[in-house]
Amino acid sequence: MLGLYSIFIFYTHIKKIMHCFFHRRYVIIVMYISGYALFFYIPMTMKIAIIGSGPAGMTAAIYAARAGLRPLIVAGDSPGGQLINTDSVENYPGFERISGVDLMMNMMRQAEKAGATIVYDKVVGIDWISGGPFKLPLSSGDNIESCSTLIATGARHKYIGCEGESLFSNRGVSWCATCDGPMYRGKNVAVIGGGNTAVMEAVFLANFTNKVFMIHRRDSLRADNFAQKKVFNNDKIELIWNSEVLRISGSKSVENIEIKNRLDGSITSLDVAGVFIAVGTEPVSDLVKNVVCLDEDGYIVAKNTLTSVPGIFAAGDIVSGSLRQAISAAGQGAVASRQIEEFLGTR
Ligand SMILES: Cc1cc2nc3c(=O)[nH]c(=O)nc-3n(C[C@H](O)[C@H](O)[C@H](O)COP(=O)(O)OP(=O)(O)OC[C@H]3O[C@@H](n4cnc5c(N)ncnc54)[C@H](O)[C@@H]3O)c2cc1C
Repeated sequence: MLGLYSIFIFYTHIKKIMHCFFHRRYVIIVMYISGYALFFYIPMTMKIAIIGSGPAGMTAAIYAARAGLRPLIVAGDSPGGQLINTDSVENYPGFERISGVDLMMNMMRQAEKAGATIVYDKVVGIDWISGGPFKLPLSSGDNIESCSTLIATGARHKYIGCEGESLFSNRGVSWCATCDGPMYRGKNVAVIGGGNTAVMEAVFLANFTNKVFMIHRRDSLRADNFAQKKVFNNDKIELIWNSEVLRISGSKSVENIEIKNRLDGSITSLDVAGVFIAVGTEPVSDLVKNVVCLDEDGYIVAKNTLTSVPGIFAAGDIVSGSLRQAISAAGQGAVASRQIEEFLGTR
């Protein structure tokens, strides 16, 4: 009888017990008192919690795990980070060409093998008492307690803010040509922007669409020379200079855009089935807005990964002035792990 009852209790506590075994976040104490099994869960204070599973977070996790710190990574809404949106990374040393998904899966596997734990959840706040541990509530209602925290929440795509942009999001408006481009085979599309990402998107789309209009606010591209040549040498790409999108319209999906020339104010209409927006990124820093010092654009001000709050570190695209590339994010992740080790050692 007692055995059956214990099994029943065991199943009612399965979630936390699984956490204990796989995430090592609780110590379970079971006591039998007068035939009743009582379960006590005592939360363990982790040495290091990493917020974000992009190249910065995963590299920090690999280094911290190898240093015996048993890091816990909260993966967020986008496990693997921004790179999972590209099918071709050609500048990560050691790989002439690798898909973003493969690169990030490799990092996540390597981190777990080294002893890191990945939690597929989202951090919704950071609470701490000076000198005390950090408390990180998760969207699932769970909580993490840690002695140190690494913010590696990266960046996200910027909107252009024109009429119809949100309305037609995922109905013709996209921020990822490699993800959505193949749906526009044989059709006309527009790419908005003039940097490296915009150029790469336009060149990629030109491979299978009928025509690519590349619309840029200025009279020259910001992309590097090598990338620019790819655009100028491609007959399928038509550059529309000094122009901005006023309106995206259609019935069920995008059919047309209206653009305004910024020099003479003239308005033109283009028939396109897809609009790919590539006007840069903004930091994902809402979580730390009132916690650490941010620059005027919302990026974290950090010196050698140290933020304005002792015990909170930052790495990757979220850091003010960073290169915003996978390799620089990974490099900062490695430095952060070392800095955290030193911080924990001095406590
Ligand atoms: C389409 C595209 C193509 C690119 N191609 C290249 C390339 O070829 N080469 C190159 O070097 N770079 C490339 N980049 C840039 C590169 O992806 C970034 O520089 C790099 O991913 C930054 O890494 P990160 O770890 O700082 O942040 P990110 O990769 O942005 O990861 C941020 C992580 O934080 C998590 N997160 C956010 N908020 C929370 C929260 N509240 N709780 C928990 N987790 C949270 C997210 O889920 C995500 O896992 C590309 C970017 C894009 C968008």
